[in-house]
Amino acid sequence: MLLQKTDEELIQLDKELLWHPYTSMSHPTPHFLVKKAEGTRITLSNNKTLIDGMSSWWSVIHGYNHPSINAAMKSQIDNFSHVMFGGLTHEPAVELADKLIKITPTELKRVFFSDSGSVSVEVALKMAIQYWHTAGTPNKKKFITPRNGYHGDTFAAMSVCDPINGMHGLFKGTLTEQFFIPSPPTGIDLPVDENYIDDIKQLMENHHEEIAGFILEPVVQNAGGMRFYNPMYLDRIRELCDNFNILLIFDEIATGFGRTGKMFATNHSSITPDIMCVGKALTGGYITLAATITNDKVALGISDKGGVFMHGPTFMGNPLACSAANASLSLLASYDLENLISNIETTLKKHLNKCKTLPNVADVRCFGAIGVVELTNPIDHHQIQPLLVEQGVWIRPFGKLIYLMPPFIINDQEIEVLGKAIYNVISSLEQS
Ligand SMILES: *Cc1c(COP(=O)(O)O)cnc(C)c1O
Repeated sequence: MLLQKTDEELIQLDKELLWHPYTSMSHPTPHFLVKKAEGTRITLSNNKTLIDGMSSWWSVIHGYNHPSINAAMKSQIDNFSHVMFGGLTHEPAVELADKLIKITPTELKRVFFSDSGSVSVEVALKMAIQYWHTAGTPNKKKFITPRNGYHGDTFAAMSVCDPINGMHGLFKGTLTEQFFIPSPPTGIDLPVDENYIDDIKQLMENHHEEIAGFILEPVVQNAGGMRFYNPMYLDRIRELCDNFNILLIFDEIATGFGRTGKMFATNHSSITPDIMCVGKALTGGYITLAATITNDKVALGISDKGGVFMHGPTFMGNPLACSAANASLSLLASYDLENLISNIETTLKKHLNKCKTLPNVADVRCFGAIGVVELTNPIDHHQIQPLLVEQGVWIRPFGKLIYLMPPFIINDQEIEVLGKAIYNVISSLEQS
């Protein structure tokens, strides 16, 4: 048996051995050791309990340690945890595909499972390129995408991320150069800017022969800046894509499964993409799993003339992950989702709007179960993370943004504590 390490030893070893996301190996920011997580609470090794404002990067929508997802996974483990998906299939995957097809827009009918959000985006981009190749127009292999987007950290996904956030300068020469347009003007209720649409039309007129698809995050641009825009832009972009033979790809990895107040952000519009990526909250944040869902046009187009889609991850359709996703989707179906999220939105607004009076706050905005406080200056993690933990909350800011994406099971009092913590920490930054 291994000798048990003390908490201090674990934290020290972590510092020496482990990369953390977007964190220096020589000057790491502090990392807090988690001992337990349950419902909306994360308990640290010093027994401090934090209210979760992040849903662990927007995925743990039902809270931690949920009895029904736990039970589903335990039962699947006792049956089998994994079998290859080449030549074999199983109930958890079939059931999950069936559930997904029923809750996504009707035209979406075919499901490709993969391991993570980034991979599901790789799959979507490959599908679009292969679709046009099979259709006899192999020059169509580039993508249009708005600035301030985020689609993952692998190479093709990176090529459609915001050029600055996505570090295109650093990776120049290794990334495909795509067609960037400005991000959709922010403001959910602001009317569509016709000049914006005209510019896209112009770009398509000039370059449609080399463009396979248009990829974007519907309604909310997430990791690229937490920006909300009018869903009518989606209707207009759909129309342009149809006119110029360009496939429309929605990345719903962050927005999917209720976060914006509808099951999918695309439901705020009247249109359907050709390809949709989901991930993050798909398994209730229990284990990594993503899916790329397409209409028949894409699926049957690729399979035309004896074609097969050239992708097959080792852990494709992992039964354990699918069983977690099935349990998570059953929970979602049991909620009065629109009312639940609308109440979270109202409560977020109530408590975050107070930050508007602080001089170093540039903007406060809320949409669905997303609340954002934008500061005038970038945030220093070294400084702010311990202050937030001291306030008894788990919030992980980035750039100029301190934001909340809490689990859907959060109550009003907990949101109030999260809001107050943000207010207090910003005020204390001002004094220092
Ligand atoms: C998180 C995210 C991804 C990448 O997903 P991973 O599982 O981290 O690879 C892609 N697109 C969007 C919109 C995301 O929020």
